[in-house]
Amino acid sequence: MGALSDQPYWWEEAPPRRLGHHPPARSDVVIIGGGYTGLNAALTLRRAGVGVTVLEAGDFGEGASTRNAGHVSSGVNLGKSAAQSNVRSPLEQSLPAGVFQSLRDEAAASFDFIEARLRELPDDAQYRRSGRVVCASLPVHFAAMRQKSVSMTRDGVRLFPRDQQRAAIGSDLFHGVMTIDRAGQLHPAKYLHALVDRTLAEGAVLCDNHRVTSIKREGTGWRLDAGAARVSCDKVLIATNGYCDGLLPWLRRRVIPAASYIVVTDDLPAGMIDTMLPEGRTAVDTKRLLSYFRPTPDRRRLLFGGRASLNARDPRQIAPELARRLHAVFPVTRGIAMRHAWSGQIAFTFDLLPHLGAHEGVAYALGCNGSGVAMQSFLGHRAGQGLAGGETSPFWNLGFPTMPFYRETPWFLPAMTGWYRMRDAIDRLTGR
Ligand SMILES: Cc1cc2nc3c(=O)[nH]c(=O)nc-3n(C[C@H](O)[C@H](O)[C@H](O)COP(=O)(O)OP(=O)(O)OC[C@H]3O[C@@H](n4cnc5c(N)ncnc54)[C@H](O)[C@@H]3O)c2cc1C
Repeated sequence: MGALSDQPYWWEEAPPRRLGHHPPARSDVVIIGGGYTGLNAALTLRRAGVGVTVLEAGDFGEGASTRNAGHVSSGVNLGKSAAQSNVRSPLEQSLPAGVFQSLRDEAAASFDFIEARLRELPDDAQYRRSGRVVCASLPVHFAAMRQKSVSMTRDGVRLFPRDQQRAAIGSDLFHGVMTIDRAGQLHPAKYLHALVDRTLAEGAVLCDNHRVTSIKREGTGWRLDAGAARVSCDKVLIATNGYCDGLLPWLRRRVIPAASYIVVTDDLPAGMIDTMLPEGRTAVDTKRLLSYFRPTPDRRRLLFGGRASLNARDPRQIAPELARRLHAVFPVTRGIAMRHAWSGQIAFTFDLLPHLGAHEGVAYALGCNGSGVAMQSFLGHRAGQGLAGGETSPFWNLGFPTMPFYRETPWFLPAMTGWYRMRDAIDRLTGR
């Protein structure tokens, strides 16, 4: 019997990277944060002939980009309500139809972008266009899916009522499911490594263990302090997502770092994974404190994640709750031990949209709201294009809301977790 590790399963094959490079005194652009956003921006900038330095506070791959579940989605849930991913979001209701559609098109383009980028990286990160299954936690969610599927023709959508859902998922817990073909899965840490390798090969300077502590105006450009290092540059991009610190208080007041947790089972008995996920899709339910799951790339284990608590806790304490949720979906897994339990930080925003833009001359690309493998990669690329003087995105400088009394501490997260938990329970009891 092995022990429960608090390290991401992905790090067994692709642990965070320490390169040990020193920052130059000057660079055309400095990118703060070395995850998918920062590295995709760096690669695009290099290809436009721009000099780039990436300053990363930890080793490369310590952030969410090697801690996630590796679901690659096509942006269909853009601006989704944190409560229910299958209803028309408040955002959709508040924006003019044309603007919302252009954001949706841009989000959908993130899927084509990541597939193309993966093809040009030195490692395909075990990417598979596997499709996704969205599992209705309540009958009303399935009814909403039915409505929503009408506008999802390009995504390859099929609906399975409860009595037919076993074609897509070996569980009777749900009230029908929707499968989406335009979705995939990858090994998140191998993707990060491949980005590091390609970005280095194309001439970017990547410096780990350099936390930027100040950004100051210097002539028409900027001066950044990172420990003993000082770098001057023309342009800066902040790509720190759920690991935002107090570097730019204006930004910190608009981003809500929150935790998400994952467990990975021990090896499953031969063939079990095929009965659980017969089509090998990624899966997600429709609760407010949602769960998501998928096979590991070798199909020997199941990865099961969820928003069990929005604030940071010891993942080993959260593991029993995730195990209970897993057993409810697949009772056959009772008695199978968990081998990994870890957490990572995502970034919520008050309008549930990712944001790309500039504040007083400092550019930013962040706010994944839990879904950023494709989208943050794409927004990093779009930020790179923008900084190189090229095409911009409909996301550029959309209003970026905050909330009164929110400074740096997301004091409302414990209450939010409790509130979501209670609303999920009430919905379950009332069938709504
Ligand atoms: C448990 C979990 C599961 C998830 N599952 C999925 C999924 O299945 N599908 C999906 O699409 N998305 C998923 N996500 C979200 C996805 O991982 C993120 O959206 C994505 O990795 C964000 O990339 P990023 O580069 O913006 O941020 P990160 O990868 O978090 O990188 C930000 C970096 O900024 C650095 N940093 C912070 N402050 C400073 C500073 N002052 N100076 C220098 N560096 C700094 C940090 O060290 C960090 O490395 C998940 C996230 C988590 C946590």
